[in-house]
Amino acid sequence: MAEAVARHVVIVGASLAGTRTAQSLRALGHPGPVTLIGAEDELPYDRPPLSKKLLLQEWADTSVEEIRLAGESELTELGVQLRLGNAAVGLDPDAGLVRLADGTSVEYDVLVIATGAEARPSPWKPRSGVFQLRTLDDSRSIAGRLALGEPVVVVGGGFIGTEIAAAARARRCEVTVVDPLAEPMARLVGPEIAGSLVDLHVRNGVKTRFGAGVVGIEGEAGDLTVELDDGERLVASTVVVGIGSVPSTGWLESSGLRLDNGVLTDRFLRALGHDDIFALGDVARWPHPGRGVDVRAEHWTNAGDQARYVAAAVTGAVSEPYTSTDYVWSDQYDWKVNAFGWRAPEGRSDVVGDLETDGRVAVVHAGVDGALCGAVTVNWVRALNQVRRLSASGASAAQAVEAIRRLP
Ligand SMILES: Cc1cc2nc3c(=O)[nH]c(=O)nc-3n(C[C@H](O)[C@H](O)[C@H](O)COP(=O)(O)OP(=O)(O)OC[C@H]3O[C@@H](n4cnc5c(N)ncnc54)[C@H](O)[C@@H]3O)c2cc1C
Repeated sequence: MAEAVARHVVIVGASLAGTRTAQSLRALGHPGPVTLIGAEDELPYDRPPLSKKLLLQEWADTSVEEIRLAGESELTELGVQLRLGNAAVGLDPDAGLVRLADGTSVEYDVLVIATGAEARPSPWKPRSGVFQLRTLDDSRSIAGRLALGEPVVVVGGGFIGTEIAAAARARRCEVTVVDPLAEPMARLVGPEIAGSLVDLHVRNGVKTRFGAGVVGIEGEAGDLTVELDDGERLVASTVVVGIGSVPSTGWLESSGLRLDNGVLTDRFLRALGHDDIFALGDVARWPHPGRGVDVRAEHWTNAGDQARYVAAAVTGAVSEPYTSTDYVWSDQYDWKVNAFGWRAPEGRSDVVGDLETDGRVAVVHAGVDGALCGAVTVNWVRALNQVRRLSASGASAAQAVEAIRRLP
């Protein structure tokens, strides 16, 4: 029994999901060794600020400390063995071994896969002045370019692309956002709010080229040309390509684990067919109980929640399947966008409030049966929290709409 509880937990991926798992294991009293393996040289840091406030400031030594998830001394005190700057390159589940880039391997009793996601590779040739944003180094480089105040083209109108556009405007750069979709922001906030979000960007001086694909990027930093499929050529000093992300599963290709847009897990976040391997955060795809499909979330709250769950599962403190919080936020100028739950494909959505007249809005999503599935709010966190509370108590979408209509 003593042996069973003192198992060696090896966590691959030293960012939000991995670090929170290590911290939670100790908080729950896990007595065995814990090893945290990370590809990056950096101590664990948080990513959301990389596309927000860190793009707005001059980089100083203290900038990094603002976004640390854990310091070296804390991890030492917790008895977490750190292996940073040493990517996992292979996994042998039969032998219980993770192989590392430096040629060494680490044996595990329990493996936690937390390798997250990476920027979807740019289809265009790498050039100076063309960036993607996933890491601290990326953010630092882009911030340096934005500080020049020169024209920027952002390829991709997703959350990260639009946040970079807002930051670039704050640094007085001319900004054009290009996306092949006619209404890219509808994916983020739904069709009810997408038009207002585009207006917000336009009011703040962003130019948009929606419905136009990029066919090529030429030149170099300071003198780049982005060619669109309608023949237009956009001139830029800096280009940021933000076309989504893909799960970091390359190191698992020959492991025999089931991979399909992430590591497929069961309802307990265990890799399918492997009771001693968990996957969580941006890299995991698990059966979502509410939505009835496998889901891979790229949300901060999900990574932290799953970390606490996995630590509890490893220490035997939980036996129920994982239930998710489904919460995400984005900052765009003075807008605080918050979303919870999901939009049911066949369901309906009700709008409460008005951005123009009230400066705030909530869109409440119902399933076909009227069940409360989720909500998106702008500048109205109170409404979102109300919906979250009502959802937990089993209220219907109609009851949620009524409740937030009554909010002051
Ligand atoms: C710029 C940006 C802004 C964001 N803003 C928001 C936001 O506003 N709201 C929100 O909800 N979410 C946001 N997110 C998403 C959120 O940051 C992620 O959901 C969260 O970081 C996921 O944590 P994770 O630990 O699962 O993965 P990651 O943060 O991707 O970390 C995975 C770690 O594993 C490492 N790794 C990868 N492969 C290997 C390997 N083979 N061996 C060892 N280590 C490896 C990576 O280097 C990385 O450090 C943002 C993300 C980015 C990039």
